[in-house]
Amino acid sequence: MPMPVRSLPLVQNWDCHGCSDCCRTYAVHVSDAEKAKIEAQNWHAEPDLAGVEFFAWDKSEQRLRLNHRPDGGCVFLGADNRCRIHAKFGSAAKPMPCRVYPFVMVPAGDHWRVGVRFACPSALQNLGRPMREQAAEAREYAALVEVDKKTPGDLPAPPLQPGQTVPWGDLLRITAALTEILIAPGVRIERRLRHALALMELCKKSSFEKISGARLTEFLELTSVIVGEELPEHPAKPGWAGRVLFRQIAAVYARKDVGLNAGDMANRSAWGRGIAGYRFALGAGRVPKVHGQLNEAVTFADAEKSLGTLSPEVDELFTRFYRVKLESLQFCGRTNFDQSYWLGFESLVLTYPAAMWLARLFVAGGKPPLEAVQAAVRIVDDNFGFNPMLGSGKQAWAMKILTAKAEISKLIAWYAT
Ligand code: SF4
Repeated sequence: MPMPVRSLPLVQNWDCHGCSDCCRTYAVHVSDAEKAKIEAQNWHAEPDLAGVEFFAWDKSEQRLRLNHRPDGGCVFLGADNRCRIHAKFGSAAKPMPCRVYPFVMVPAGDHWRVGVRFACPSALQNLGRPMREQAAEAREYAALVEVDKKTPGDLPAPPLQPGQTVPWGDLLRITAALTEILIAPGVRIERRLRHALALMELCKKSSFEKISGARLTEFLELTSVIVGEELPEHPAKPGWAGRVLFRQIAAVYARKDVGLNAGDMANRSAWGRGIAGYRFALGAGRVPKVHGQLNEAVTFADAEKSLGTLSPEVDELFTRFYRVKLESLQFCGRTNFDQSYWLGFESLVLTYPAAMWLARLFVAGGKPPLEAVQAAVRIVDDNFGFNPMLGSGKQAWAMKILTAKAEISKLIAWYAT
């Protein structure tokens, strides 16, 4: 009996609109049972698939994956941009990752929560049926992930930080308090993010040994009001070290090495990648083409130019994005490189300046502002929680310095418009 699904992202709509982006981008790993199932579907009898290798060995993951055609598309991607396995045998015949995407199943002690990857354009644009109508599918996905990953039902709550832990119930109370701040109407998104960070900073210094349950909720309500009132309207500019570290992180978030719109980093020699890294550290001249959608001519100076007042759609997108990530707990623990709650939260809010930094480059390259922000959020979220570089020791070190120097709030305010 799989654990129940207790939290669906109710603000989110989704249905697949067959853009085929995921089928051209990701390595889909398959179990032995899935391989046998696909082999039994007798695809070699199809004239255009005779002799085609359906599986390939993923050296970096040491796992079998679905093969890609020379054009980068999955071998089972049809001419109509639809999955041929799905079209012929239905959704249940596909490998587990293809069925679950763009959802992320997050284990939370005795239940599952559901996150969403905004890398999928339908999810990003909120297109399709409301999630509340997809509860049955979510339960199916939970069962699939449980079988595949053998997720234990009694997983402990991720620590808030090393040495500071609370039970699942209190972790959800803290999450509710942060969500309240992040969805507050009539407040700029950058201020809401800074407000939530300020509450986090105060919680980091608190001991929750004797504050739990309803008392914790009261404590969070009170402290949220206090830190909100003390929040500066215009924080100082990010410092030199903060900007250097931030550009390195933004480079990781912007980078795409495979699939549609891949940049040129994978084709560079180690020397060429080193030069690109140096240019990101320097922050001057042209921005290396780490993503295929980046215009060759954009410069680091373009990323420092404000976009002015943005449309309400931009606010709606960021509000939905952070609400879904936060309520699902997709930002910490198992689904974000086993990061502690606070580190995961800091990583999550840093996606805001990262996306806005990239959006400014897209605007400089000719995209209208809303389209630029949408493209940037997709790209950033393609990496968030999935690019191993974001779970590395180097990343944790950079985050530690940004936090110690209180740079994250400054970066959020600086790249806000
Ligand atoms: S990226 Fe999203 S909309 Fe496009 S094919 Fe994949 S699931 Fe469907």
